[in-house]
Amino acid sequence: MTTTISSFTQLNLDKPRTLVLCDIDDTILHFPERDTFCKEIVDDFYPNGIHDNTYYAELKKLKDMYILIKEPKHTDYSGFVSMVNTLKSTNGQLMFLTARHIDSDKWTRRQLRKLGINPDEFYIHYTCAMMSKGDYIKQNISFTNWATTIFVDDFDPYIQSVRDICPEITCYKFQAKNEAYLTSLKKDYKLFYK
Ligand SMILES: [Mg+2]
Repeated sequence: MTTTISSFTQLNLDKPRTLVLCDIDDTILHFPERDTFCKEIVDDFYPNGIHDNTYYAELKKLKDMYILIKEPKHTDYSGFVSMVNTLKSTNGQLMFLTARHIDSDKWTRRQLRKLGINPDEFYIHYTCAMMSKGDYIKQNISFTNWATTIFVDDFDPYIQSVRDICPEITCYKFQAKNEAYLTSLKKDYKLFYK
């Protein structure tokens, strides 16, 4: 069974020399208001909604643009800092494991910096969406230095691939809290329509 968490403080880090493999998008950084915001805009331009042939293409285009323009938010900054400190004091380590393409390295590092994370402190693995995360781990990450390994991700198929291919890894599903969601949504609307 995979445990669902909404804070990094919920990870079981009791064992020394724990390796945490952590996803980036929607696990560390997210754009909580993106989907609703983009949908509202596209709906205004396409009154027939999904019955319009270009609706989904336009929605995707706007969402892609949105994440380039807007700044991401951290899903759980204090929990993240607490996890990193615990790992430091127990000879553990955090590595990022993202499906992003390696070409996004510079942008990814810039985004992490904006969230208060120093990307130079952590190794970033890029799968480039070429394979499942379970396959990537099996082929590229050695466990010899670690007593135990934890995998954290928001995306069920990746979690399942790690469970299937690397059963020795403990998997957690991260579900970002949406407490700040409505407040930030209202703020963004005001800015947009001003
Ligand atoms: Mg993700």
